[in-house]
Amino acid sequence: MDEFEIIAEIFAPLAVAPGAFGLKDDAAAIAARPGFDLIVTIDQIAEGTDFFAFDPAGAIAQKALRVNLSDLAAKGAEPAYYLLSLSLPVSVTLDWLTAFAAGLAEDQKTYGISLLGGDTSRAEGPLAITITAFGFVPEGRMVKRSGARAGDAVYVTGTIGDSGGGLAIFKREKHALTETQRDHLTGRYQLPEPPVVFGAALRELASASVDVSDGLIADLGHIAAGSGVGIQLFGEKIPRTDALRALWGEGMDAIGRAVTAGDDYQIAFTANPAMDSKIQFASRNTGVSVTCIGTVTTGQDVELLLHGESYNVSKPGYRHF
Ligand code: ADP
Ligand code: MG
Repeated sequence: MDEFEIIAEIFAPLAVAPGAFGLKDDAAAIAARPGFDLIVTIDQIAEGTDFFAFDPAGAIAQKALRVNLSDLAAKGAEPAYYLLSLSLPVSVTLDWLTAFAAGLAEDQKTYGISLLGGDTSRAEGPLAITITAFGFVPEGRMVKRSGARAGDAVYVTGTIGDSGGGLAIFKREKHALTETQRDHLTGRYQLPEPPVVFGAALRELASASVDVSDGLIADLGHIAAGSGVGIQLFGEKIPRTDALRALWGEGMDAIGRAVTAGDDYQIAFTANPAMDSKIQFASRNTGVSVTCIGTVTTGQDVELLLHGESYNVSKPGYRHF
């Protein structure tokens, strides 16, 4: 298939929004929504850095999409559209592309979004997928990194470190896990589950918010810097699954690894302590677990405390450069 057949056969069926014009035009049109801001975000994932060539094609597609949906959710936006840019090595087959598109189709249903357009090119290097996602928030209501105030509580959705544990297993770290535990962790690496339904609630509750992609400490550092505050994290409160505890144990180093591993695609946010009961209510309502893990101070940077003592992490999170 050439590029135009790929677009027409594989991707046009995903372009369900009227403004996508069935991928038959040069550009797409997004209808302005009076009273709303359009929130835009972009993320690229590349073979060897963010996924393995042996990962299922559908999961790779869903990961490319979901790493963007976690950004939209953290900003309080409801997802609406996305653009897809593909750099395809010659080795990519029609079967692979078909499975890739099936993964996207499934997530489009789950999250109520549509493909709008994209670009397809031949790659000299490894497979890379770039997605730009669009969502809406009521005008002026995007949840920023800059709103945290001393005295706020710090929360995180879901569990932290599972994906990092899965990656460690793929990298052949020794373990004595059951098959179920192992599959849970590697599954989280291959297919993150960002708490998209919690995005709308965040707008009413959070003073600042960030998605956890590079590591909890590193990403909370963005809130600390953006808000001009310090953050104290209570290491023993970090929510971790039994599978991760079985892999890395209970000690300080285990917690240190979990909060710096990255690829969680959960949301970390701050809120006035008076919001706590509303946060618990929103958590029950959406089925997204939320845990209070720390407090905002007048200091700077993120400090990890374990049973009251400061614990130094060597590296707060993943860095590409
Ligand atoms: P141009 O040559 O102007 O860049 P293209 O041939 O790349 O145009 O794109 C033609 C149409 O197909 C456009 O609507 C574009 O958005 C869409 N398109 C191209 N590649 C993809 C893709 N990977 N996913 C979705 N839409 C795509
Ligand atoms: Mg093009």
